[in-house]
Amino acid sequence: MDESERVERSDAEWRARLTPRQYEVTRLEGTERPFTGRYWDTTTPGTYRCVGCGLELFSSGTKYDAGCGWPSFTAPVDPAAVEETPDDGHGMRRTEVICRRCGAHLGHVFDDGPAPTGQRYCINSASLDLEEAEDAGSESGSGSGSDSDSESDAGSDSDSESGSGSGSE
Ligand SMILES: [Zn+2]
Repeated sequence: MDESERVERSDAEWRARLTPRQYEVTRLEGTERPFTGRYWDTTTPGTYRCVGCGLELFSSGTKYDAGCGWPSFTAPVDPAAVEETPDDGHGMRRTEVICRRCGAHLGHVFDDGPAPTGQRYCINSASLDLEEAEDAGSESGSGSGSDSDSESDAGSDSDSESGSGSGSE
């Protein structure tokens, strides 16, 4: 990741762009209360982006239920996407995770995670913006240009695309 890609904004700009909760977490290193965030139990496939700059941070593929009340991941999408720094605040020795591009506080990483990484990235929902995967099960190449369920499917009650028996269209 290139340093020139860094996103830097003034405090006022961050306040304007983010919700108060997002601002508190990402810029003031806040921590949302467990089991209250948007994504702690989300299983929707997709990519979790930084709420501050849109950088891809985590994938639903590495998300797991750690039972701690925050979204937990075994690894970032790209190790270069996050920066890990020692955080000795609150009388604990922890490792803070921040967005490499905009410096947003994301959460902390612990080494009590599951295999294969043994890592638990415990991330605040307020730091993340889930981009849901769009291509779940859809087949490309219908060619009609319309992606709505319009009359092209007339006569078929099933929304299965398996096309059983009726031959090629
Ligand atoms: Zn960011």
